[in-house]
Amino acid sequence: MRFLELAETLDKIENTTKRLEMVDLISDLLRHTDEDIKETVYLLQGKVAPDYEGLELGIAEKIGIRALSSLSGLRENEIETELVRKGDLGKIGEELLHAKKQASLFSEDLTVRKVYESLLKISKSAGEGSQTRKLQILLDLLHNAEPVEVRYLLRIVTGKMRIGVADMTIVDSIAVAFGAKDKTDLVESAYNIMPDLPELAYRAMAGGIDSLSSIRITPGIPIRSMLAERLPSLKEILERMDGRFAIEYKYDGLRTQVHKIGNKVELFSRRMENITSQFPDIVEEIRKFVKVENAILDGEAVPFNMETNEMLPFQEISKRRGRKYYLKEAIERIPVVLFLFDAMMLNNKSLMDTPYANRRVKLTNAIEESDKIKIAKSRIVSDVESADKFFNEALEAGCEGIMAKSIDDKSIYKPGAREFLWIKYKREYQLEMEDTVDLVVIGAFGGQGKRSGGYGALLMAVYSREEDKFRTICKLGSGFSEEQLDNLPRMLKPYQLKKRDPRVESSIDADFWFTPSLMLEVKGAEITLSPTHTCCLNVVKKGAGLAIRFPRFTGRWRGDKKVDETTNEQEIIEMYHSQRKKILADYA
Ligand code: ATP
Repeated sequence: MRFLELAETLDKIENTTKRLEMVDLISDLLRHTDEDIKETVYLLQGKVAPDYEGLELGIAEKIGIRALSSLSGLRENEIETELVRKGDLGKIGEELLHAKKQASLFSEDLTVRKVYESLLKISKSAGEGSQTRKLQILLDLLHNAEPVEVRYLLRIVTGKMRIGVADMTIVDSIAVAFGAKDKTDLVESAYNIMPDLPELAYRAMAGGIDSLSSIRITPGIPIRSMLAERLPSLKEILERMDGRFAIEYKYDGLRTQVHKIGNKVELFSRRMENITSQFPDIVEEIRKFVKVENAILDGEAVPFNMETNEMLPFQEISKRRGRKYYLKEAIERIPVVLFLFDAMMLNNKSLMDTPYANRRVKLTNAIEESDKIKIAKSRIVSDVESADKFFNEALEAGCEGIMAKSIDDKSIYKPGAREFLWIKYKREYQLEMEDTVDLVVIGAFGGQGKRSGGYGALLMAVYSREEDKFRTICKLGSGFSEEQLDNLPRMLKPYQLKKRDPRVESSIDADFWFTPSLMLEVKGAEITLSPTHTCCLNVVKKGAGLAIRFPRFTGRWRGDKKVDETTNEQEIIEMYHSQRKKILADYA
């Protein structure tokens, strides 16, 4: 196929925002391709190989500029200035070479295959003289390119495809091209265990769309990681899991998929990049302590202080990403421990459809624990108290929370799925204020959009009994039903004032002021220091008051309480301190 056809399709894709149109355009293109279908899909993605092979294109823009300068006669610094102005070397190249092209007699048509092979050469070219070789290959391509081809060639080689056709759009397009829309799930399932779209497109074309169902998980090809849902409390997790589940530490590090094929070990990130070269120490350890020939395992690599036996903040691990010659030093300075929590394949037998509890037993049997390879801590629980105890242990050990895992018969490993088979629960979800507060409305702000004509938010206050003052603690706009919002102006009308009530202390200027009367029950995430609210001003910290973070109306009007029973400042201070104690205890 001519590269022109692909470039013109890319141009049309760039000019539509409708996903269905994109799918139509791409599936049409795929149907037209033949033996070069793989190359076509790679170029659609702006790649020459799947991410996990680590072959990057992205040649420096400098080389692109040099090539354009040599073909157009314009000076390099003039093109650079243009690039600063327009930000898109592809467009600049298209315009510059437009006139030239018409005058050129000795060019030949570019094919998809020729472009792909040239780009592959560019990406593999390394070492001495590689810049000159890359320039030469690019010049050769540009010389033969039509203007629209120039645009996409330059974008692809510099790694700036811009339109970047999303993987899921290509999944849909493969289904439509070689089957029908209802085959999308089939293509997606194949993609989850073989995230190589060119290969899938080729197999769908050559063997029919249904042949994708025979794809199996393969050592060396990363699968998409299984993900977790979240719930706000251990109680809800227990209910959702039918009263019994496995609870694991949720380690805070880098998701790492291990592939062992004999003596060869490869590591992949959650985004399926090959990260093997960053962790030679882990690779070595896997060779020694994973006692099976072939394996695909799931885990979390966590930076670790070996002396104190403590986990370190996960950001530390990114220091491993530095240049190669720093790696040796980084390995010594930032040791990493790999906590394994799942096995998707052992000795060439897929465990994807095996229930979790069984997978876990097989994982444990296949691994000998060492200083740097450990099995994730886990326990079976069937009541909230034990779950809570384990959760606190996890925090104490330096984890960010727990992962609850279903242990029923259907608890298979679902690649790419975020479902309730796994549920995460982290420390910050616990930062729900333990108690509600009863706050009084002292002001309101006019609403906008859907809320125009009514109130967008209310200004809420606590009470100081000693001083008979109402001081602001938050703006409240969440938790109301449509009906409640509609009713607010009517409910507040009797209390409306022309200006601020003298008992109210506020540094915020509301649109409407009210006599403190209407009381609402409010819950928030936590009490924080605030530079704007006057509640407890200067008490905890000079110049700061206290505020409620993420406040929401619980739905309960406190008409049963008198206004002097509004939550008072003293209670807020106590809540603030007890919350701090709890956080400190959690971290201790
Ligand atoms: P988060 O930002 O909360 O880590 P996420 O969106 O990155 O979430 P989720 O699937 O929602 O990913 O949360 C699970 C993540 O937690 C996994 O991607 C993995 O990196 C990490 N993790 C740590 N310990 C475990 C464990 N025991 N089981 C599964 N995942 C774990």
